[in-house]
Amino acid sequence: MLTVTKPNEDHERRFREFMEREGLSNLSASRYKCPDCAEPFVCSACPRCGKDSGEFPVEPYFSWSPCVVCGCLEGGDRYDGNGWSERDQCIKEYEGVCQDCIEAAQC
Ligand SMILES: [Zn+2]
Ligand SMILES: [Zn+2]
Repeated sequence: MLTVTKPNEDHERRFREFMEREGLSNLSASRYKCPDCAEPFVCSACPRCGKDSGEFPVEPYFSWSPCVVCGCLEGGDRYDGNGWSERDQCIKEYEGVCQDCIEAAQC
């Protein structure tokens, strides 16, 4: 029997593979760098001005680079995200996560 893989099933599979590969228990959109100082946040605070990353709203930006999670090649909105890795006992940060993956992570 011929099984047809629907694009969203394929996405879900790649998303799960990524989460497993990274040992992540969650993934959420967040700022990766302080927009004022362009410094990557350390423990969710800017090492230069001391502001909390939560003070800056998460905004998507357009990019043609493939999504770091599912590898989709279509240009579109990208978010910076982070997730807790139970396996590595640390927060891992990712630059350029597509909207589909952010939504998949919220399920
Ligand atoms: Zn700053
Ligand atoms: Zn993606």
